[in-house]
Amino acid sequence: MSKNFCTLLNCMDGRTQLPAINWIRSNFDVEYVDIISEPGIDKVISLQKEDFMNSLYKKISISLNSHGSSMVFIAGHYDCAANKGNKFQHVDQIKKSADIIGKQYKNVVVIGLWINENFQVEKVC
Ligand SMILES: [Zn+2]
Repeated sequence: MSKNFCTLLNCMDGRTQLPAINWIRSNFDVEYVDIISEPGIDKVISLQKEDFMNSLYKKISISLNSHGSSMVFIAGHYDCAANKGNKFQHVDQIKKSADIIGKQYKNVVVIGLWINENFQVEKVC
């Protein structure tokens, strides 16, 4: 049995957790999905506020270093209470966030996900 971990940066919204976890486990050789959640996390990362980013990097590093994760997923979703805006705006933020995280962790695969109005997952980068 695989014991592979990955890391998911997701909104706190309870509607998004299982779709994201199930999609990741269906598409990658991953058993466990470490979740770091923040309301509207795609927007928050793209703004790069220093305090938030320092805290986020500490959390990501635990997943990478202690659990051996080598993949980080960043998700945004439809009807986000903390991040209003259309799909186009979200996808832009998800891509920007993926770029930021990818620059911080050069040996990690970073993948951006959009969770649509049917709470289905689409890979955006
Ligand atoms: Zn949300």
